[in-house]
Amino acid sequence: MSDVPALLPVEEARARILERCAPLPTEWVPGDDALGRALAEDVLARRTLPPWDNSAMDGYAVRTADLSSPLPVRLTVGETVFAGKLPTRELTPGTCARIMTGAPLPPGADAVVMRERTRPLAPDSVEVLEAVAPGNFIRPRGEDAREGDVLLGRGTPLGIPELGLLWAQGMTSVPVPRRPRVAVLSTGDELCRADEPPDGRIVDTNAPALALAVRRAGGLPTLLGIARDTREAVQEALARTDGFDVVLTSAGVSVGDHDFVKDALGALGVEQHFWRVAIKPGKPLVVGQRGPTLFFGLPGNPTSSLVTFELFVRPALRRLLGIQDVEPPRVSGRLDGRLSKPPGLAHFVRVTVSWRAGELWAKPLGTQTSGVLRSASAATHLLHFPREISSLTDGSHVELLPLSWVA
Ligand code: AMP
Ligand code: MG
Repeated sequence: MSDVPALLPVEEARARILERCAPLPTEWVPGDDALGRALAEDVLARRTLPPWDNSAMDGYAVRTADLSSPLPVRLTVGETVFAGKLPTRELTPGTCARIMTGAPLPPGADAVVMRERTRPLAPDSVEVLEAVAPGNFIRPRGEDAREGDVLLGRGTPLGIPELGLLWAQGMTSVPVPRRPRVAVLSTGDELCRADEPPDGRIVDTNAPALALAVRRAGGLPTLLGIARDTREAVQEALARTDGFDVVLTSAGVSVGDHDFVKDALGALGVEQHFWRVAIKPGKPLVVGQRGPTLFFGLPGNPTSSLVTFELFVRPALRRLLGIQDVEPPRVSGRLDGRLSKPPGLAHFVRVTVSWRAGELWAKPLGTQTSGVLRSASAATHLLHFPREISSLTDGSHVELLPLSWVA
């Protein structure tokens, strides 16, 4: 057992991976393809938005000085300003303009009274029923962006509102790190493709599942097929991974007689960063690097490969896409049930959750074996059962990680 290293805590394993992941080279892509990546450069506003003070309500643009006399105050309606039109006249004392949401404020107006607080008397006359303060229901010029200012800084993760801000500036392409190219290799004599007659074999589900997980995390997967359980076969398949940013293998990383992935990686000159993490499922994970390419030898059990993807690969892919904060998201909840285990490994327990009396309650799924996909199906979160703890009582406060693989 002397060649079996000590188990690395999950946080340290992730940190060791992430310190090797920097944003990939920049490409300019249409906004919708940039969703989920981070900006590779500061983007300056070219336009001040909104370009003018405008109304936040359908109502009347007024001079608040006119509203100081006892209510209601009768005003003369000079014009109606619609969104998309510019006002044509300045408000003089005793006058107002009917105005629609988004329409520019006429000069002289310093507030908007909502239509519900007015009573029309005639087409050109209205009674205002409330006094409002200056600025009421005005969306000020430049509230969204000021020309020349940094609109969004380098490293900003691009979600839907951020892309909206860029589109509003007329930006049709956006600088972001290119997507990571990810090779996915299955290993094992027992495996066949889904479209083959099994003849005593089992279908390789890891590769297509991992490819989907890669795509969902923003990467570009390429399937390399199935390598047989010999060092030569695995090595030959891995030798075809030049040009990939990340290589994922599954299975063959344990201490079995046919576990050749580590040997094959070593023979290819991949420098091993670590092997074996103090977690269940997923203990045999091996991670290494050759040149710019990061290699993850994921465990073979279908659930283990998905859990290790979630805990280690997905954060790495997101970091390559420029996102700085890639720690798996966490929410706090309570345990519905009891759990126990020996200390030593952190368990990531598949749970379903429900919202009851203001709290999130997590119920472990009946089967937690990692050998069957059934134990991942229906799970929406992983419950983190810490390494040093051996029992969690009913109602314990727990940390929950929302899963990215759910429908
Ligand atoms: P191993 O790490 O090679 O001992 O594999 C662990 C378990 O995962 C075995 O039961 C394998 O049959 C299973 N397994 C390995 N690779 C795959 C795969 N690509 N798809 C589904 N199951 C797999
Ligand atoms: Mg095997």
